[in-house]
Amino acid sequence: MDWNELADRVLEGHRVSREEAIAVASAPDSELLAVLHAAFRVRAHHHGNKVRVHVLQNAKSGVCPEDCAFCSQSMKYNSDVDQYGMQSIEELVEGARKAYEKGAVTYCMVTATRGPVRGEIDRICDAVRQIKEKYPVNVCASLGILKEGQAERLVEAGVDRYNHNIETSSRHFPNLVSTHSFEDRVRTVTRAKQAGMEACCGGIIGMGEEIEDWVDMAITLRELEVESVPVNFLNPRPGTPMGDNEKLRPQDCLKALAMFRFVHPEADVRVAGGREVVLGSMQPMALYAANSFFMEGYLTTPGQGESKDAVMIRQAGFEPEVVNA
Ligand code: SF4
Repeated sequence: MDWNELADRVLEGHRVSREEAIAVASAPDSELLAVLHAAFRVRAHHHGNKVRVHVLQNAKSGVCPEDCAFCSQSMKYNSDVDQYGMQSIEELVEGARKAYEKGAVTYCMVTATRGPVRGEIDRICDAVRQIKEKYPVNVCASLGILKEGQAERLVEAGVDRYNHNIETSSRHFPNLVSTHSFEDRVRTVTRAKQAGMEACCGGIIGMGEEIEDWVDMAITLRELEVESVPVNFLNPRPGTPMGDNEKLRPQDCLKALAMFRFVHPEADVRVAGGREVVLGSMQPMALYAANSFFMEGYLTTPGQGESKDAVMIRQAGFEPEVVNA
């Protein structure tokens, strides 16, 4: 396939087909740079050379009753992660201050849970009101499956975006999770959007799936019209059923990111968890397809640190986007 010609058509409004997306994700290694270059043209058209930095806050850790096979925060598995209940309003607001001072465009509060109970929604809402008064930062909440009425409360408090990943394709999902369904996840994403929040929704690759599952996930996300697509690479967590999975090859991760860019030309495509350990020395190349990443690590694993991230952005010829919330 002529990757530049595909980029031309995408820039003219063409929606890539499933077959085209599969071709991008399964391109031979010898065409990796050509694929990335074409993805970069689409990325640059919509996002210039800017990188949107997000910072995560693990607001409730290690006590989730669900059984997602990749997740060290599930109580079903013997993982060595911190366990604590919902953080206080002060801790949540302090997290926002730190994120803002590091130059984050978005501060993401995440709870390890099936879904929020009333008191947790109250606390998040109170924290968000204070954050919005103090810091010009976008706020994203990731609180699990939402019940009727909960999304509206978050919107009212000022939450800009709701994260809820579909994780993989509908076909592969039942191999990973038995305590809730793919449809449960889709329903929450729809609920968040209908209430007026942007949707941040992506998944993890490297969980025993096929390339077709990456593509089907990307296409489902396009149908859901999500604004933000975090693409995680499995960093196998000891104690989980996926603890012995082999890590993906960096080349395949980069082709996957290019595919997500072609399917989601305008969205925030975020190179997310596993960036450092899976991509290794090739991680700056991810920015040619992705326009966003998490700084300061992930929910249960550290990143490479703020200073290395800042150097990486500049040395690769990109610039951090400045917050304008
Ligand atoms: S619902 Fe979220 S926190 Fe809970 S086990 Fe699944 S991925 Fe982990």
